[in-house]
Amino acid sequence: MTYVITESCIRCRYTDCVEVCPVDCFHAGEKMLVINPEECIDCNLCINHCPVDAIYAEDDVPDDQKEFIDINAKMSQIWPVLSTKEDPPSDADYWSKIKSKRHILTEE
Ligand code: SF4
Ligand code: SF4
Repeated sequence: MTYVITESCIRCRYTDCVEVCPVDCFHAGEKMLVINPEECIDCNLCINHCPVDAIYAEDDVPDDQKEFIDINAKMSQIWPVLSTKEDPPSDADYWSKIKSKRHILTEE
Protein backbone atom coordinates (compact mmCIF):
# COMPACT_ATOMS: atom_id res chain seq x y z
CA MET A 1 0.00 0.00 0.00
CA THR A 2 1.02 3.59 -0.47
CA TYR A 3 -0.08 6.98 0.77
CA VAL A 4 -1.65 9.50 -1.57
CA ILE A 5 -1.72 13.30 -1.66
CA THR A 6 -5.08 14.71 -2.74
CA GLU A 7 -6.74 17.92 -3.91
CA SER A 8 -6.32 19.87 -0.65
CA CYS A 9 -2.59 20.18 -1.30
CA ILE A 10 -3.04 22.21 -4.49
CA ARG A 11 -1.68 25.73 -4.01
CA CYS A 12 -1.14 25.07 -0.27
CA ARG A 13 2.09 23.23 -0.55
CA TYR A 14 3.13 23.84 3.03
CA THR A 15 5.69 21.01 2.69
CA ASP A 16 5.58 20.15 6.42
CA CYS A 17 5.14 16.55 5.32
CA VAL A 18 8.45 16.08 3.53
CA GLU A 19 10.64 16.45 6.61
CA VAL A 20 9.19 13.43 8.40
CA CYS A 21 9.38 10.93 5.53
CA PRO A 22 12.15 8.40 6.23
CA VAL A 23 12.52 7.39 2.59
CA ASP A 24 12.26 10.75 0.78
CA CYS A 25 9.36 9.71 -1.40
CA PHE A 26 7.76 13.15 -1.77
CA HIS A 27 8.06 14.79 -5.18
CA ALA A 28 7.27 18.44 -5.75
CA GLY A 29 5.44 20.04 -8.63
CA GLU A 30 4.86 23.74 -8.92
CA LYS A 31 1.29 23.46 -7.53
CA MET A 32 1.26 20.39 -5.28
CA LEU A 33 3.29 17.50 -3.95
CA VAL A 34 2.84 13.80 -4.69
CA ILE A 35 4.08 10.56 -3.13
CA ASN A 36 5.97 7.90 -5.08
CA PRO A 37 3.97 4.68 -4.51
CA GLU A 38 7.01 2.54 -5.26
CA GLU A 39 9.05 4.18 -2.49
CA CYS A 40 6.45 4.76 0.26
CA ILE A 41 6.85 2.26 3.11
CA ASP A 42 3.43 2.90 4.71
CA CYS A 43 4.94 4.30 7.88
CA ASN A 44 1.99 6.70 8.44
CA LEU A 45 4.27 9.45 9.75
CA CYS A 46 3.27 12.11 7.24
CA ILE A 47 -0.51 12.08 7.70
CA ASN A 48 -0.57 14.06 10.93
CA HIS A 49 1.92 16.61 9.61
CA CYS A 50 -0.32 17.89 6.83
CA PRO A 51 -2.27 20.94 8.08
CA VAL A 52 -4.94 20.53 5.41
CA ASP A 53 -5.47 16.75 5.73
CA ALA A 54 -4.45 16.15 2.13
CA ILE A 55 -2.73 12.79 2.75
CA TYR A 56 -4.61 9.48 2.86
CA ALA A 57 -3.66 5.83 2.97
CA GLU A 58 -4.50 4.46 -0.47
CA ASP A 59 -7.36 2.35 0.88
CA ASP A 60 -8.91 5.39 2.56
CA VAL A 61 -8.83 7.82 -0.37
CA PRO A 62 -12.38 9.24 -0.72
CA ASP A 63 -14.25 8.30 -3.89
CA ASP A 64 -14.12 11.84 -5.25
CA GLN A 65 -10.33 11.93 -4.82
CA LYS A 66 -9.44 8.57 -6.37
CA GLU A 67 -8.04 10.15 -9.54
CA PHE A 68 -5.17 11.40 -7.34
CA ILE A 69 -3.91 7.82 -6.94
CA ASP A 70 -2.89 7.91 -10.61
CA ILE A 71 -1.74 11.52 -10.41
CA ASN A 72 0.65 10.62 -7.57
CA ALA A 73 1.97 7.58 -9.43
CA LYS A 74 2.49 9.42 -12.72
CA MET A 75 3.83 12.75 -11.53
CA SER A 76 6.24 11.22 -9.00
CA GLN A 77 8.07 9.83 -12.02
CA ILE A 78 8.47 13.33 -13.42
CA TRP A 79 8.70 15.83 -10.57
CA PRO A 80 11.90 16.04 -8.44
CA VAL A 81 12.25 14.72 -4.90
CA LEU A 82 11.70 17.29 -2.14
CA SER A 83 13.02 16.40 1.30
CA THR A 84 13.51 19.82 2.90
CA LYS A 85 10.68 22.11 3.92
CA GLU A 86 10.21 25.19 1.76
CA ASP A 87 8.36 28.44 2.40
CA PRO A 88 4.73 28.05 1.30
CA PRO A 89 3.22 30.33 -1.36
CA SER A 90 2.14 33.70 0.03
CA ASP A 91 -1.51 32.84 -0.71
CA ALA A 92 -1.37 29.32 0.77
CA ASP A 93 -3.76 30.15 3.61
CA TYR A 94 -6.36 31.38 1.12
CA TRP A 95 -6.10 28.23 -1.02
CA SER A 96 -6.19 25.97 2.04
CA LYS A 97 -9.86 26.92 2.47
CA ILE A 98 -10.83 26.24 -1.17
CA LYS A 99 -12.21 22.73 -1.56
CA SER A 100 -12.72 22.45 -5.32
CA LYS A 101 -9.50 23.33 -7.13
CA ARG A 102 -8.28 20.35 -9.12
CA HIS A 103 -8.80 22.30 -12.38
CA ILE A 104 -5.83 24.44 -11.31
CA LEU A 105 -3.49 21.52 -11.88
CA THR A 106 -3.98 21.73 -15.64
CA GLU A 107 -4.02 25.51 -15.88
CA GLU A 108 -0.92 27.51 -16.75
S1 SF4 B 1 1.87 19.19 4.21
FE1 SF4 B 1 -0.02 18.73 3.10
S2 SF4 B 1 -0.47 20.61 1.94
FE2 SF4 B 1 1.67 20.66 2.57
S3 SF4 B 1 2.82 19.82 0.85
FE3 SF4 B 1 2.43 18.18 2.30
S4 SF4 B 1 0.56 17.24 1.56
FE4 SF4 B 1 0.68 19.23 0.58
S1 SF4 C 1 3.64 7.04 4.77
FE1 SF4 C 1 5.78 7.24 5.44
S2 SF4 C 1 6.98 6.56 3.70
FE2 SF4 C 1 4.93 6.99 2.94
S3 SF4 C 1 5.00 9.12 2.24
FE3 SF4 C 1 4.30 9.14 4.36
S4 SF4 C 1 6.14 9.45 5.58
FE4 SF4 C 1 6.79 8.78 3.53
